[in-house]
Amino acid sequence: MDRYAVVGHPVAHSQSPAIHARFAELTGQRLLYERLELPLGGFLAGIEAARAAGLCGGNVTVPFKLDAFAWAQHLSARAELAQACNTFWFEPDGVHGDNTDGIGLVRDITRNAQVPLSGARVLLVGAGGAGAGVLGPLLSEGPAELVLSNRTVARAQAVVDRHTGWAQRHGARLFASGLMDVAGHFDVVINATATSLQGAEPPLPAAAIRPGTLVVDMMYGPSALPFAEWARAQGATVRDGLGMLVEQAAEAFFVWRGVMPPAAQVLAERRAQLSA
Ligand code: NAP
Repeated sequence: MDRYAVVGHPVAHSQSPAIHARFAELTGQRLLYERLELPLGGFLAGIEAARAAGLCGGNVTVPFKLDAFAWAQHLSARAELAQACNTFWFEPDGVHGDNTDGIGLVRDITRNAQVPLSGARVLLVGAGGAGAGVLGPLLSEGPAELVLSNRTVARAQAVVDRHTGWAQRHGARLFASGLMDVAGHFDVVINATATSLQGAEPPLPAAAIRPGTLVVDMMYGPSALPFAEWARAQGATVRDGLGMLVEQAAEAFFVWRGVMPPAAQVLAERRAQLSA
């Protein structure tokens, strides 16, 4: 059977094996999807050993997305733009790398939540690996304006500078800012910071949200609840990161197998299991 794995440190918490097992079941694909925890600093040795042992491909999670980007010999345009890989596979010409996080987030917003990004005013909070990784696909949807805010403004500015041409090509105005310097309200707000994990203060001013704003937190589970409650109290419609997780997995599955799994069905099932 073809073998895939989620590679990270830690990976014990990862939902990816359950998601991909269900995709395989629903599409009739014969594959095994496992967890591969590698030691910090040990990505290259560990992944090459797994490749020699017959691994076909996989997903990469924290903290190895940059290592995977440096390792892959053939990169998709979206991985180049993100400068990070969350998906890889092997072909006779070498290691292929892709990044499906951004398209996963876009599909969760535009298909699952049915909120258009085209013409919208969007606030993306967080310019770390996750924020930088989704910026290109968000801009591809043609928002009127996208503000990338971050605690460390220079980091946001560097990511914005890298995407200036891409934003112009898609007719979007793109700015960097500090967390509390954002002005006005937004149609869509995305929290791509690690603040929910830390129980820290909401990383944006309440005035950025108005009734009807869609707020997406990339986190999910109990640690995402306080931020969700705060955003709801400002009148927002709130989504956690589970939809993005399932949608990025569906795109990776499609890249490997050429078959698109029923992501909406699996998302509904995962959500029911998590709240049971
Ligand atoms: P990262 O590269 O370590 O970046 C962390 C980000 O959070 C940076 O923007 C950082 O700002 C900011 N931050 C950290 N502590 C903060 C605080 N106390 N106040 C304000 N900002 C703070 O991590 P990442 O890979 O981008 O991941 C970010 C989050 O997204 C994680 O919670 C991860 O689990 C989640 N994620 C979810 C999915 C999904 O499929 N649902 C996919 C990818 C990531 P500075 O630059 O100033 O340090």
